[in-house]
Amino acid sequence: MAFYRKKRRKAGPSKNDEKVLRAQTAVDNERAAGTLSTRFPTLRSLRVKVSIATPQGVILEESEETYGPNDPFFLEADCPGSCGSGSYDFAVLIAQSLETLQKRGAAQIICSEPSYSGAAGTVCGCIAKCEFTAETAPS
Ligand SMILES: [Zn+2]
Repeated sequence: MAFYRKKRRKAGPSKNDEKVLRAQTAVDNERAAGTLSTRFPTLRSLRVKVSIATPQGVILEESEETYGPNDPFFLEADCPGSCGSGSYDFAVLIAQSLETLQKRGAAQIICSEPSYSGAAGTVCGCIAKCEFTAETAPS
């Protein structure tokens, strides 16, 4: 089960559609996000390195992926931490850098979802670090 934030644009689904809709939520979000080339026409590739660690510094997840011009501009990771419902959206941060013509950069997002394994009132606090490098076509 994925924990993508709901980004509904349509009216509420019927009961029959809900199951199918849930399975397709990720796909729908990717389509709605557009592709790298529709968002940034000069972009040839985007390399994104993500590592997610607990507040204590234990790495829970590491990944590195390269996206091409036709890949969806959808860079969201589920939080593997104790919240069970957090997610990190790097697309906004990366888009901001690309819009200001920065070809590389780093972002850090801290999960602020409530933690259900800790005491009441504690937050998950996992830290996702993201590094990206963009290749653009010469203009
Ligand atoms: Zn979390």
